[in-house]
Amino acid sequence: MQTFRIIQNGDDYLLPVYNRQKIVLMRGDGSYIYDSERMVYLDFFSGIAVNGLGQAFPEVVNAISETARKLGHVSNYYYNEPNVRLAKLLCEISFAQKVFFCNSGAEAIEASLKLARKYFFRLGQDRSEIISFNNSFHGRTYGALSVTGQPKYQEGFGQLLSGIKFATFNDIESVKKAMTDKTAAVLIETIQCEGGIHPADPKFFKELRDITRENGVLLIVDEVQTGLGRTGKMWAYEHYEIEPDIMTSAKALGAGLPMGAMLTTNQVSQGFKPGDHASTFGGNPIVSAAAVANIETIILKDVVANAGKQGDYLRLCLEQLIKDFPQLFTEVRGMGLVQGLQMTREAGPLVLKCAREGLLIGSAHETVLRFLPPLIISNEDIDLAMEKLRKAIAAELQG
Ligand SMILES: *Cc1c(COP(=O)(O)O)cnc(C)c1O
Repeated sequence: MQTFRIIQNGDDYLLPVYNRQKIVLMRGDGSYIYDSERMVYLDFFSGIAVNGLGQAFPEVVNAISETARKLGHVSNYYYNEPNVRLAKLLCEISFAQKVFFCNSGAEAIEASLKLARKYFFRLGQDRSEIISFNNSFHGRTYGALSVTGQPKYQEGFGQLLSGIKFATFNDIESVKKAMTDKTAAVLIETIQCEGGIHPADPKFFKELRDITRENGVLLIVDEVQTGLGRTGKMWAYEHYEIEPDIMTSAKALGAGLPMGAMLTTNQVSQGFKPGDHASTFGGNPIVSAAAVANIETIILKDVVANAGKQGDYLRLCLEQLIKDFPQLFTEVRGMGLVQGLQMTREAGPLVLKCAREGLLIGSAHETVLRFLPPLIISNEDIDLAMEKLRKAIAAELQG
């Protein structure tokens, strides 16, 4: 089909909830993606922090196709080997001792909210309040939306979940004020990504862990966007030298296939008994095999170290842009390969100009340019991205 016809059919038949660029992507290879007009793009978006190993990584492709030939889907009324291997692997590389699998970040958040409440219910304690943060993002389902601290996402959807309070990110006093003897859990991102790439302050995070422990409150850390090496550690919570009670993962977990997970300790896992929560597709063999190949590759090829090293380099490049274009850029924020460049104007037009130069990049919170390259990105590709970005900036400054 011709490009214009695909786009026209897309506009005719797809529910218009996205502002799509008028680009039809056809094929990918590592950090490069090709469109239907044979234009090649350097990928600094990774499908929103999903493709840590880039496109069509051989080990992942093999795991998916071999498993699809052997065993497709069986439901959670039986064990399947890739899923058990994945659960064990995730526990070996994190604080966790038990894993629940689902299909998205929002579902992992739903599971975490339900587990936190049920945990105290089973203990016979009257605790069901959840403290979340202003400017946070946790997903679009009703539960996840209810704990998302951005009114623009919530408006018009009627009654949301009750028992949710919002504190101010990086302000420990606001958390203390919100906490009562009815508080079940505090839910927090290590970096508020959709909110404009705002990392949590280390002192704040440590104090948050301390006061949740002291008050018998569970700490839920949302690592849907930051987990699996993106920040230069396997999990971003490691930067803060704390351990959560519950963690959510998704985006990069299934190496491009839809998968979410909620991870927790043996103790907190006792909140759930058979029948308390479930997912038909959760942890199916194909997705699990992809995730195992993904994580084994991340470990074997030292991908996390590369993310840290290239993240440092990317940051230097972005700091240079602030020096060169102070009228456009004011601050760079982030960790490893999740970096945000604060602009003095809307980021959208520059994002489009980058695409015209062959660079896929994102924005966050209207005025932040968002960099999420694959974790396998090289020095040379960062240099090339900066060349393309500088051309786009030149066009932007011409108006
Ligand atoms: C993307 C995201 C979610 C929601 O994930 P979906 O898979 O889109 O449901 C939740 N939390 C964070 C931090 C995210 O970045």
